Amino acid sequence: MLAIDGPAASGKGTLARRLAAHFGLPHLDTGLLYRATARALLDAGQPLDNALAAAAAAGELDPARFDEERLRGAEMGEAASVVAAFPQVRQALAAMQRRFAGQPGGAVLDGRDIGTVICPDATVKLFVTASPEIRAARRHRELAQKPDAPDFGTVLADIRRRDARDSGRADAPLLAAPDAVILDTSSLDIEEAFAQAARLVMDRITTA
Ligand code: C5P
Repeated sequence: MLAIDGPAASGKGTLARRLAAHFGLPHLDTGLLYRATARALLDAGQPLDNALAAAAAAGELDPARFDEERLRGAEMGEAASVVAAFPQVRQALAAMQRRFAGQPGGAVLDGRDIGTVICPDATVKLFVTASPEIRAARRHRELAQKPDAPDFGTVLADIRRRDARDSGRADAPLLAAPDAVILDTSSLDIEEAFAQAARLVMDRITTA
């Protein structure tokens, strides 16, 4: 089982998808679970800061009906990080993630706490990171195509705020597991990052 963690816009999602395809494993983007929880509350006209309502929404999620396009927007990332700070929400989502991780044959999960909390026994743990400025530049470039694209300063401020919330929460903060391999993609393009990640995974599998 492969655990891939890292901050927002580090490239961990792309790497997780590519590693899953490369090794023929199913992949779960666990950020979508937190995003969908926030989306369900907003759609029901409920505030994000009620832990019990958020946990109830998390418990009723049906991943088969996720509208990924709608969930992936930047505002939903921000909203997700608010509900993700509630231990009750994290608990409501843990069993689903562990079931996915326990599939015979293995799986790839990416998120913030996969190697630390959800699957501390993962065969391979990668912590994918890059400087806030590089992550903001990548995100800014992605968003530049859109009609209301934010400026670089706004994207960087959003990234810093999300990092602070994800790292500063008491329950399951964003953290590299002590046995995780750190992959800093600051000076790598996606092909180089993928090649390094695939090599790290192979090294770990062959020495495990
Ligand atoms: O990875 P993504 O940006 O989609 O995650 C959205 C938010 O969900 C994160 O900023 C974080 O607060 C939360 N999250 C989490 N634990 C995970 C995955 C995501 O707390 N395993």
